[in-house]
Amino acid sequence: MILGESIADSIARTGPITVAEFMSLCLHDPAAGYYATRPRLGETGDFITAPHISQMFGELLGLWAVEVWRRLGKPPSRLVELGPGDGALLADALRAARVAPRFLEACEITLVETSGPLRAVQEEWLAGSTTPIRWVDHWSQVPVDKPLIVLANEFLDCLPIHQAIYDDGRWRERCIGADAKGALAFVFRDGRPTNGHDVKEWSPAVEDCGRQIGAAVARAGGAALFIDYGRAEPGFGDTLQAVRRHSRESPLANPGLADLTAHVDFPAFLEAGRQGGAEATSVREQGHFLSALGIEHRATMLKRANPDCSDVVDHQLERLIGPDQMGALFKAACLHSSGLIPPGFESPPWS
Ligand code: SAH
Repeated sequence: MILGESIADSIARTGPITVAEFMSLCLHDPAAGYYATRPRLGETGDFITAPHISQMFGELLGLWAVEVWRRLGKPPSRLVELGPGDGALLADALRAARVAPRFLEACEITLVETSGPLRAVQEEWLAGSTTPIRWVDHWSQVPVDKPLIVLANEFLDCLPIHQAIYDDGRWRERCIGADAKGALAFVFRDGRPTNGHDVKEWSPAVEDCGRQIGAAVARAGGAALFIDYGRAEPGFGDTLQAVRRHSRESPLANPGLADLTAHVDFPAFLEAGRQGGAEATSVREQGHFLSALGIEHRATMLKRANPDCSDVVDHQLERLIGPDQMGALFKAACLHSSGLIPPGFESPPWS
């Protein structure tokens, strides 16, 4: 049975489900969820992320990790990636980190990944790694035995969110139920169709991740870098979106066949991290963050080494940092232990 039908069946039996429950089923249902069964990243798949646009992205994050390690005093460390996708980011990061062989020797790698098919792809991409790699299912299973250097690109955006709509003088949770013809539809918990345009979102999962990773870096030392599309200021609005074959569609159209995400509420995430005991940086636009890490310089080096690819590198650079492309919509922020200043966040002129 396709996932949409089994969700409609269960709604018919037990009533509407929350947006968070719907997201979890669409992404992780063991038999038909998107990530559990058919994740398709990259040009020929459903969606593209920064590491697929250019190797520069993962390389700079690798150098970021080396610099965090250096600022920590070069201790034995645990390099963690949350939601590594097809492993491209980490492969680029580890290649760039070869400039510091002692970093690679000092690290163990832990990957947090729920998706069986993606774990298999990651194993393939990372087969050549000399640094030992282990996989866990959830961020709470990351060992907190030594300083942590955490990378997470487009991870928080696929954690489940709840939504509420302002209706008749109060906020009511937006749920998924059925319309008169039995098709999936947005409804209130009592089954009434939702109307009202003011939407607010919150995510216990994003906050739990912030609290736990925050507590871990506070306790063991280290820094956790989160890059995602989202808001730098608290705000309202419906940001739930489904993407299939590079086009947006209704989140209810093809459950399990599309990637489902929402904008990350960075202020709420960082506040949860502070509650966990960590310090938090400001929220910086991806373009400014990558410039602070020297992406323009890296692009110049790549162009010098491959003059034929000059236009391609310029195009990639523009996509990653252009304010009308990923540069402003995507944000970067860190949770870190006290006394550490994460690279790329040193001085305020970009904030
Ligand atoms: N970071 C990668 C991929 C982003 S796609 C990149 O930049 O290309 C999101 C990734 O997070 C996928 O690997 C997906 O399987 C994983 N993921 C989604 N929800 C998760 C969860 N709750 N726990 C662990 N991994 C999750």
